[in-house]
Amino acid sequence: MNNPLLEPFNEAPFSKIKNEHFKPAFLQAIEDAKQEIDDITSNPDAPTFENTVVALDFAGQQLDRISSVFFNLNSAETNEEIQKIAQEVSPLLSEFGNDITLNEALFQRIKTVYENRDAIELTPEQATLLDKKYRSFSRNGANLNDADKKRLREIDAELSKLKLTFGENVLAETNAFELLLTNEEDLNGLPEGEKEAAAHLAESKGKEGWLITLDYPSYIPFMKYAENRELRKELALAFGSKGFHNNKFDNQENILKIVKLRFERANLLGYPTHAHFVLEERMAETPEKVLEFLNELLAKAKPAAEKEYVTLEEFAKELDAIDRLEKWDSAFYSEKLKQKLFNLDDEKLKPYFKLENVINGVFKISEKLYGLKFNEVQTIDKYHEEVKTFEVYDEQDNFISLFYADFHPRPGKRGGAWMTSFKSQYTLNGVNSRPQISNVCNFTRSTSKKPSLLTFNEVTTLFHEFGHALHGMLANTTYPSLSGTSVYWDFVELPSQVLENWCYEKEALELFAFHYETGELIPMELVDKIKESSNFQEGMATLRQLSFGFLDMAWHGTDPTNISDVKAYEVKAFESTNLFPETPETCMSTAFSHIFQGGYSSGYYSYKWAEVLDADAFHYFKENGIFNREIANKFKENVLSKGGTENPMELYKRFRGAEPNIDALLERAGLLEVNE
Ligand SMILES: [Zn+2]
Repeated sequence: MNNPLLEPFNEAPFSKIKNEHFKPAFLQAIEDAKQEIDDITSNPDAPTFENTVVALDFAGQQLDRISSVFFNLNSAETNEEIQKIAQEVSPLLSEFGNDITLNEALFQRIKTVYENRDAIELTPEQATLLDKKYRSFSRNGANLNDADKKRLREIDAELSKLKLTFGENVLAETNAFELLLTNEEDLNGLPEGEKEAAAHLAESKGKEGWLITLDYPSYIPFMKYAENRELRKELALAFGSKGFHNNKFDNQENILKIVKLRFERANLLGYPTHAHFVLEERMAETPEKVLEFLNELLAKAKPAAEKEYVTLEEFAKELDAIDRLEKWDSAFYSEKLKQKLFNLDDEKLKPYFKLENVINGVFKISEKLYGLKFNEVQTIDKYHEEVKTFEVYDEQDNFISLFYADFHPRPGKRGGAWMTSFKSQYTLNGVNSRPQISNVCNFTRSTSKKPSLLTFNEVTTLFHEFGHALHGMLANTTYPSLSGTSVYWDFVELPSQVLENWCYEKEALELFAFHYETGELIPMELVDKIKESSNFQEGMATLRQLSFGFLDMAWHGTDPTNISDVKAYEVKAFESTNLFPETPETCMSTAFSHIFQGGYSSGYYSYKWAEVLDADAFHYFKENGIFNREIANKFKENVLSKGGTENPMELYKRFRGAEPNIDALLERAGLLEVNE
């Protein structure tokens, strides 16, 4: 069979690819990649950086290309057939990955190079690559004796089962709860659209009335708008007690098992705690630094949060004469207070943010900062007619990147917005092979009457994803595994979040925020209001984020051997960040899927960490002009183009001239004045 995926291709040949091509292409490419690995291990020459480490990094290129085409399609334009193929090939790919990390001969060659690293001359990028490759084995137990290796495999198998069970329990508890309302008065306060949704939900389950569940699209609006305080309480307690009912879906034992196994795993590999293990490959480096960081922010945010809490409680007392502010009152009165203070709604702003104008805006900003030009082309093969394709050039007309933009929802696309790539950048045999980057979003489509108009939140989303895209497009490295967004977890949101800052700046908005009918520029008083309202209750929001970070570190940064009471341990971890009266019925940990099921263990702090970085970086721009070419160039040379080739703190310092400082974030968030 002629298989376009097995021919060499530059741009993905979408129009030639049929679903039946994928499976055979994967099988063949895995075989080829295995052969490339065999070639490395059977090389009669002594191991060198080039013949082992570099060869490994460039092995499996075709497999990478096929995987990115396939999995990008599975996210943006999928169907049952593609999903079925994904089910079939995913285990093959993880098996191939495991075969590499467990390949003893390969590890011994890498170890030889690694142990001789002081005797060979390596550039910083090469040293990083060697380190990364070595650690991908050592962190999986390659240096352990056979008994310990066996124990590590047992722990890993047990952990993956426990994580799965944890998630299944949360889901079961989410689905087990329903609040069926039959009296319309109980929905007072909810916008019509939300009421309709609740009625539809009831109908879809063959019930009469209005159904509220613990799924976010149902839960959040109810907590925000429903005037019935008792029902809000019932719903909040149900939401807060998932996995905490002493029934078969209870997660308390699972948590204790997970943290103890993670601790044992870390010890086996030579780390004091799981957090030490995780943070070794993060910009924050150690649990001590994370705690120092969280505590520093806590000291600044707490007075503001306490003040906001008092204001909110007074507002609620005045409005409804409640006795004291409880957890289930927070979203409700916050929404009311916000409306009173800002009276800002999406409909007022949307006419100024026509999709085409916003895209042009972000292109113009990239041109002013980095000299990039975006030429739309019709000659690039695409997976859906709605996808737009651009060739990106720099000021000297060098080709920089391909850029795919896929903006609107379709049945085969998952929700949300993301950046991805069809090919990463690398340099091979002296040729700089440029990347192919894509942004995928779900913005409202235009109609015959109205163009696609974005909410302000969608505008910042577009800028955010485009910031990631710049990180991919401007990549300029040698080795593919260090290119573009292949950086430490707590560094990857810097390029995306920093670009969002331009959305609030007059000089930037002047480039694109024109009313789609009148052409009038967005009034600056509206922009000021957006800025102000974005800081609304920032102290409380910060405290909440910090509390999750503290809880995460409490579970993973200490010896958990003697913990027996999950709730008591959690209450202690929340001590310094608590604002609301304690509710014994609820437990955050038993449904904290981010850290017990997903990949965020010892990483929750990184949300705030990234904010500190982006605020500090933008402050540097702001001091020197938001379109200052010199600063932009420093950002490009030291951050955007460098990928993961060096320690991110070093890269950052080279851009900024200093380590990141939390003051810029505090200032932007309006948290400085409160303390003065
Ligand atoms: Zn992001």
